[in-house]
Amino acid sequence: MARAPILAVTGTNGKSTTVELLGAIGRSAGKRTEVLGNIGTALSERAEEVPEDGWLVVEVSSFQLELCTRFRPQVGVILNVTPDHLDRHGSMERYAEIKARLFAFQTERDVRVQPLADARLARLLEPMRSAPVWFGSADPTGDGVWEEKGILQFRFRGREGMILRREDALLRGPHNTENICAAAGAALAAGVSERIVARTLKEFRGLPHRLTQVAEIEGVRYVNDSKATNVDAMKRALESFEEPITLIAGGRDKDGDFEAIASLVHERVRHAVYVGEATSKLERAWSQVPSTRAKTLEEAVAMARSHATPGGVVLLSPGCASFDMFRNFEERGARFEAAVMELKRSVERGRR
Ligand code: ADP
Repeated sequence: MARAPILAVTGTNGKSTTVELLGAIGRSAGKRTEVLGNIGTALSERAEEVPEDGWLVVEVSSFQLELCTRFRPQVGVILNVTPDHLDRHGSMERYAEIKARLFAFQTERDVRVQPLADARLARLLEPMRSAPVWFGSADPTGDGVWEEKGILQFRFRGREGMILRREDALLRGPHNTENICAAAGAALAAGVSERIVARTLKEFRGLPHRLTQVAEIEGVRYVNDSKATNVDAMKRALESFEEPITLIAGGRDKDGDFEAIASLVHERVRHAVYVGEATSKLERAWSQVPSTRAKTLEEAVAMARSHATPGGVVLLSPGCASFDMFRNFEERGARFEAAVMELKRSVERGRR
């Protein structure tokens, strides 16, 4: 079995970003660190290779938690619980309860990192034996990591202070502030200094297909957020830009409540291009937003270009699964990036 401490991360969105960031922190602390995609085979195969003073960082989905018994991470992180996979899990209460299983076998010596802003989750986790470390956007009074006036601050076991200025971390957007605070809280709990956390944050660029800038063409930025496969991830993407957005959305709907973000879409999106199965549902949900339909992603890129103006953003943030047209979100993102690069080349050829 595992000799190294296990740092496990769950939540609806942000897991991969947070585990990779934790992995980077572990490595900059000089630890042998393995980042594993699930608690099943991957963990049992690799666990023994990592020495006692290393780290095993594990991403845990609700599907795995449903099946798992007696998993006990020394540090468990829950990022958020927002609607996703309700097609499978039924109600939000049940979905939250499944996510809370990450902490069920923890002892007083273990830590749980949880969002300050989610009172319902706090009530659900209250009976757990582990010690809470909070993350959020206000001083939690207890142990935690939070952002206030552009500064990331921490308090942990009697020590407190500044980690770094938010703008000095490379990851952008308010959702990433949450991921950063959660990862920093977990790292402190696992014994790494705030200085090493700060150093890593200044270098960590994030993962592909998550708000990744692909190119700038005729003054318009093209951004690939193919990994946004649910409504909350899409909402976070829209909140990450001040510029007018030309949005490419759609795919296979997972029973998403698109109407819930209609006013945000209306405020931020100048034009929407829809692709895939969810097209008519999106048109109905956001009837106030000017839109067009595309048959392929390549056509969507061409349409988006014709509606975007300099200083704007063309954003692929589908809010849906990819399986109606692609093998997975990576293939969707790669196809988007290829179409954007082709457009860039043709614009450059035209200029010559
Ligand atoms: P996961 O592994 O949980 O799917 P990712 O890090 O791959 O998480 O991010 C998935 C999507 O969710 C991306 O589109 C990203 O922009 C968005 N996202 C990342 N972190 C958060 C967060 N804390 N809250 C909401 N959305 C997020």
